[in-house]
Amino acid sequence: MAKVTFKNICKSYSGDVMAVKNFNLDINDKEFVVLVGPSGCGKSTSLRMVAGLENISSGELYIDDTLVNDTPPKDRDIAMVFQNYALYPHMTVYDNMAFGLKLRKFSKEDIDKKVKGAAKILGIEELLERKPKALSGGQRQRVALGRAIVRNPKVFLMDEPLSNLDAKLRVQTRAEIKKLHQKLNATFIYVTHDQTEAMTMGSRIVIMKDGLVQQAASPKEVYEKPANVFVGGFIGSPQMNFMEAEFKKNGDGFSLFVGEKKIILTGDKAKLLVNRNYLNKKVIVGIRPEDIKCVSSECDYKVDENCIESKVDFFEMLGAQTYLYFDIEGNNIIGIVDGKESYDIDSKITVKFDFERIHLFDKDREIAICV
Ligand code: ADP
Repeated sequence: MAKVTFKNICKSYSGDVMAVKNFNLDINDKEFVVLVGPSGCGKSTSLRMVAGLENISSGELYIDDTLVNDTPPKDRDIAMVFQNYALYPHMTVYDNMAFGLKLRKFSKEDIDKKVKGAAKILGIEELLERKPKALSGGQRQRVALGRAIVRNPKVFLMDEPLSNLDAKLRVQTRAEIKKLHQKLNATFIYVTHDQTEAMTMGSRIVIMKDGLVQQAASPKEVYEKPANVFVGGFIGSPQMNFMEAEFKKNGDGFSLFVGEKKIILTGDKAKLLVNRNYLNKKVIVGIRPEDIKCVSSECDYKVDENCIESKVDFFEMLGAQTYLYFDIEGNNIIGIVDGKESYDIDSKITVKFDFERIHLFDKDREIAICV
């Protein structure tokens, strides 16, 4: 079993840098938790505190209910894989993987069994006699993973382990790490700045900004129910579109007015805004590019009073899809539309928002308005 618990963890560096502020998180046994956020948000610092490579300024860190604030790294039963792999250049792959075990005085036979076992899991059995310089980036990465696996730790910590790989290998290796997690049945804590990596790998993702956790939830939940404007914008590519809108009564119903343009709001969303006293107030509307439909003669979406007219600023054809860029009352909007349609710059378009999938945020606090 390997749980990791952060309880009110803070980390300040000299010079008044508050790198991590009041971090609270319970990581369950065998979970794959990804810490994600822009550079400098405190994710590496959080991971390094678990590894014991940084002192904790305040708060409590538990591994399996044992307080480890003052436990030296070697006694924490964790293994860390770094971005630069940190392999010993003069040693063979075998010796790189065996090194930690030798230090821990394992028998030769035991070491051999563990190294070969890990090499088999990673498919690097043929590389054991090579030196790191004779390996590709992807192979070095596997050796670094192998060095962690032989230790059979309770918790694997990974700090941007894929960032030195080219794009294709990164995609391939991310699937392999995910499989490895299933095979090893261990707890993984993984740091990345890449939201796609976080979404595809994590069973839970923790989005951080300026040392503060913004949301910790499953990939599906952070995508569908972002806690605030930052999370909405950070997760998803192309990113969520945002517009300021005023919530007003419109005849018998309610609408969101983006300047002159209106989005009719019905049902639960309208009720929610009324109940929360947003009538005649401004909110931030978020809409994901795939939730915008371009209404044309050839598609199923009919022009009705919930449509908005604009014109094409430019577009990017990706094959299966086209990214359509246009303007709504001074807001730059991206829509993902069918790749089969073609467009002319400056041509008129009619778009429709899937209003069931509109996200609403408080304008001042930028947090989601939800039930
Ligand atoms: P991330 O991994 O999200 O890019 P870090 O955890 O490395 O962010 O850093 C968080 C903040 O702490 C940043 O502002 C960074 O400059 C600062 N920081 C990191 N390490 C040190 C250090 N050793 N001394 C002073 N400030 C540091």
